[in-house]
Amino acid sequence: MPEARTVLVTGGNRGIGRAIAEEFLRAGHRVAVTARSGEGPDGALTVRADVTDAGSVDRAFAEVEAALGPVEVVVANAGVTKDTLLMRMSDEDFTSVVDTNLAGAFRVAKRASKGMLKARFGRIVFISSVVGLYGSPGQVNYAASKAGLVGMARSITRELGARGITANVVAPGFIRTDMTDALPEAQQAEYLRSIPAGRFAEPSEVARVVAWVAGDDAGYISGAVIPVDGGLGMGH
Ligand code: NDP
Repeated sequence: MPEARTVLVTGGNRGIGRAIAEEFLRAGHRVAVTARSGEGPDGALTVRADVTDAGSVDRAFAEVEAALGPVEVVVANAGVTKDTLLMRMSDEDFTSVVDTNLAGAFRVAKRASKGMLKARFGRIVFISSVVGLYGSPGQVNYAASKAGLVGMARSITRELGARGITANVVAPGFIRTDMTDALPEAQQAEYLRSIPAGRFAEPSEVARVVAWVAGDDAGYISGAVIPVDGGLGMGH
């Protein structure tokens, strides 16, 4: 039986984050989620946090540490989209998405690294997207933020790799959640045509990969980009 770990998932009240929290719970770990609204799954501790605010992230970690012990596994999952074409994209459209998806992940990883360095053990998982490396019209802000996570994970790997800490990127393709339900049907149909697997995926399919890369069997994997995209991004 693998050791039970303390796990924190950001944005664990719905979608992929919630499925990730459920997967870690199923495996017997101590699980906390951050949420701005609502609650995580039964059995998880829910703490309030907005990843655009370092103070809020710090308070959330302190709450989790007090209740469940030092965070050993962190999944930076919270993310947003604000899609529009480059010509129409405002500065605010760009910076707000980068502030949540990229700087938010930085704030979370930085706070997590404190305890991980002390413990000489840690698993950092960033939830990126196939479009980070593949590109996507209308998502200049989002794709830039998701590509940035690759450089972040690889730099963390080079800084902290010798201290028992891994940092990896999981890059989902099209997963059925509120985020993708919001896309126009024509766009969904177009995506479907380009996915070799011929289908969209469920959040649980991402969750199982995240749990695996954060688990004991993946201790020698770091700085990797692991696609969960039905072949959409092959080679990107
Ligand atoms: P959802 O829109 O269903 O959920 C997004 C989550 O992020 C919510 O829990 C939300 O909290 C949280 N969140 C957003 N902004 C903040 C913030 N400032 N501070 C804290 N939490 C925040 O998205 P998904 O589950 O689909 O996506 C989860 C991750 O997976 C994202 O990073 C997304 O980019 C990525 N992804 C999703 C894909 C898909 O096909 N669905 C494909 C590739 C990547 P609240 O409920 O409070 O708003």
